[in-house]
Amino acid sequence: MHYELHIFEQDFVRLQQHAETNLLSEAVALLFGIISEDIVWVNRVELMENESKESRTAFSVNPENEYKLLIEAEAQGESLVGIYHSHPAPPEPSTTDLRNMRLNPVIWLIASKLTGSWITRAYILQDGNANEISIKYRNSIASDL
Ligand SMILES: [Zn+2]
Repeated sequence: MHYELHIFEQDFVRLQQHAETNLLSEAVALLFGIISEDIVWVNRVELMENESKESRTAFSVNPENEYKLLIEAEAQGESLVGIYHSHPAPPEPSTTDLRNMRLNPVIWLIASKLTGSWITRAYILQDGNANEISIKYRNSIASDL
């Protein structure tokens, strides 16, 4: 299946700002929404604090906070559809990321400013390989008004 990730532009901007604010460590965010056929709809982005002691090159989130968000999402008929983090390295899954992708089989978004401007790529693990999927903007909320 060829998946696509659809996210509100303002949420994508928030992710980038979060990464920029946390430039010296890996920024983390959880993406909640629904998956319908091959479209991953991101309804909401929760910016998280990176609690890793090696936050420059690794990330972890508070499990209680994550659990609360998962319960909230479930009550709204949503689930965790994506995990975002930024890298001091290129925007590709590291060996650790690949291992964690197997444990958390959602879309993994990885951002990097290595080339001077932010590049964000989205991946899904399929048959043991991290395949890149495209990121598209949903119609903004403002334009629906
Ligand atoms: Zn990583």
